[in-house]
Amino acid sequence: MNIGIVGLGLIGGSVGLDLRSLGYRVLGVSRREQTCQKAIALGAVDEASLELSLLSIADLIFICTPISSIIPTLEQLIPFLSPSAILTDVGSVKTPIVEGVSQIWPNFVGGHPMAGKAESGIEVAQLGLFRDRPYVLTPTKNTPLESVEKVEAIARLLQSQVFFCDSQEHDRAVAWISHLPVMTSASLISACMSETNPTVVKLAQELASSGFRDTSRVGGGNPELGRMMAQYNRLEVLRSLYSFRDQIDGFIQDIEQEDWQTIEEKLRYTEQNRRLFLQNES
Ligand code: NAP
Repeated sequence: MNIGIVGLGLIGGSVGLDLRSLGYRVLGVSRREQTCQKAIALGAVDEASLELSLLSIADLIFICTPISSIIPTLEQLIPFLSPSAILTDVGSVKTPIVEGVSQIWPNFVGGHPMAGKAESGIEVAQLGLFRDRPYVLTPTKNTPLESVEKVEAIARLLQSQVFFCDSQEHDRAVAWISHLPVMTSASLISACMSETNPTVVKLAQELASSGFRDTSRVGGGNPELGRMMAQYNRLEVLRSLYSFRDQIDGFIQDIEQEDWQTIEEKLRYTEQNRRLFLQNES
């Protein structure tokens, strides 16, 4: 099976590295020539081009561009596709993509590998990035079963844990555990930067350790990706942010009222429940 990848960045490059290591022939298309050259040099693809026509012999194509480019890329790709070609994407938001693509190319399986890094680009692509990570597939009732099974089999070869759900459920769930954390982590960094005493800012920067590293990591990630999470999953991100604001307001009120008992109870509740969201962590 020939694999095609459009968008040779962190995710596209990492898919390529894994699938090439498994013996697949991987054809890559990206926007910039230097990215194509790097992808070849790093071993993420066998061949690379700026032209989508390279993918005319691909059997399964991963669209790994930024979210806003997924549907436009797919539209440009169609004239070159063989009728049996299966398309999948890796976008962090699913509903607008699944709905948009179903009108254009029914042999499409929406996907989202839940793995990432703070950095972006082909330089940080990594073999084994998806190992033991969730990989969500969001087929519709019209998606050909055989295509779903093929994409599922590839996701399992990446050693991911495969989950199926509909695109709305996906977008609502990831708003809580992926998109809201980006906004809250970014707010944390901005709040720290709002300290007006330069000596205190400098001291805080020198003292920041593992707790700050954990809580600020996703706020320090790819700004374009964070923006698109908000833009394309707007209602669910807003819903989660309103709820988060209520929680913060609650803490403010507890502290203003010196209600230490309530704070401890809240933290006991979160201490007990955090693990429910981290069951896949070893
Ligand atoms: P990235 O590292 O910035 O890679 C995207 C690459 O796409 C860029 O390197 C760019 O390559 C290329 N590109 C941009 N527009 C293009 C176009 N119109 N045609 C062809 N190539 C184009 O971003 P990423 O983190 O891999 O994210 C890619 C997708 O994965 C997004 O849809 C995102 O939602 C999803 N995703 C990201 C994460 C994460 O944590 N990063 C996790 C799961 C899923 P050039 O250098 O050639 O311009």
